Amino acid sequence: MKKIYLILLVFAGLLTVFNACQPKKSTSYKALIVTGQNNHYWKSSSPILQQLLEQTGLFTADIAKSPEKGGDMNSFNPDFSKYNVIVIDYNGESWSEKTKSAFVEYVKNGGGVVSYHAGDNSFPEWKEYNEMIGLGGWGDRTEKDGPYIYFKHDSLITDSSAGRGGNHGKRHEFEIRNRNTEHPITKGLPQRWVHGTDELYAQLRGPGKNMEIIASAYSDTAQNGTGRDEPILMTISYGKGRIFHSTLGHPDEDGGPALQCVGFITTFQRGAEWAATGNVTQKIPYDFPTAAGSSYRPDFKELTLQEDLAKIAQYDISKSTKYFTDLQSRIRHEAKTAAEFQQFEKQLIKVLESKEATDDGKRLLLREISWMGSELSIPIIHELAKSESLKDAAEYALARLQPTK
Ligand code: ZN
Repeated sequence: MKKIYLILLVFAGLLTVFNACQPKKSTSYKALIVTGQNNHYWKSSSPILQQLLEQTGLFTADIAKSPEKGGDMNSFNPDFSKYNVIVIDYNGESWSEKTKSAFVEYVKNGGGVVSYHAGDNSFPEWKEYNEMIGLGGWGDRTEKDGPYIYFKHDSLITDSSAGRGGNHGKRHEFEIRNRNTEHPITKGLPQRWVHGTDELYAQLRGPGKNMEIIASAYSDTAQNGTGRDEPILMTISYGKGRIFHSTLGHPDEDGGPALQCVGFITTFQRGAEWAATGNVTQKIPYDFPTAAGSSYRPDFKELTLQEDLAKIAQYDISKSTKYFTDLQSRIRHEAKTAAEFQQFEKQLIKVLESKEATDDGKRLLLREISWMGSELSIPIIHELAKSESLKDAAEYALARLQPTK
């Protein structure tokens, strides 16, 4: 008996030490992703959305799955009130009256909602839900459900003409226009950026009350679009609640380019924080797309500097320079002071010193160091200049770093 007691005591002691060593969790908000029925690959999108929310360090995210189509919807009663934001990745059968009223109460009392992609196809018959999302599509939505709302020549048009709600042309990359550079979600984002290959939702219609379109995109007739500037990102207030509506992010079976797009990821993460809190504390990432081109994260997450450098260290001239371009954007975006540049330089030097790194990779880094480096790099560059294959790149870097010599 005594022995067991001692073992337990030691074990408890170890646990205490272990717990004390754990970094304090900064996550303070709770998100719930509601899914289980969708005409889209919800089994791939919901875990990705969960990962994106948790990546911010702000959220812990749960997933609530409804019964499958034809199942007993009365058994689906998530406790919305436990959460700061509910993400709708759902397009399926109506919820029970009890669940619907609980959701309306939650939002009225200040709960946050994110309507993601086909979330705005859901519940065509549910009046309160359509007021929350502002605009919707498909589900036999017509003029009875509200006007079309879009921009034409920079004027906001409310168009009550008859016709179906919801449409999209071919999937393609398209330009998104920031319509409010002062809104917490879109503040700091460029005026225009290129969104990754996705569906461009068009002809949405709905009540559009208490709604602001914070980003739009031109739906090109050449892509079977409408020739209008269509709403892409919206904010809506309902009671005390905040709703962020993103039409973006059509999922493929393995995720796909729309979810890998840094523009989708960033606006989703910022929109979720805004819906939960009314503020956005996240920084704009260095790899956010620009008006010149799209930007993708193959694994849905931002590479760390170490991971990026590891890719560059294996670089082969026949391959894409994506990782090097990422490094360049990161340094230009994040380093402002001499000390910050030197922090990057020290990491680059480690790769230059490495025996495993390829000469192609080292050549790229020598080019980068030639403009952002300092005297710290001189010894290793001298060393590399002894190698036949790196001599030219090393001498070029030395000439730029020591222009007087
Ligand atoms: Zn879709």
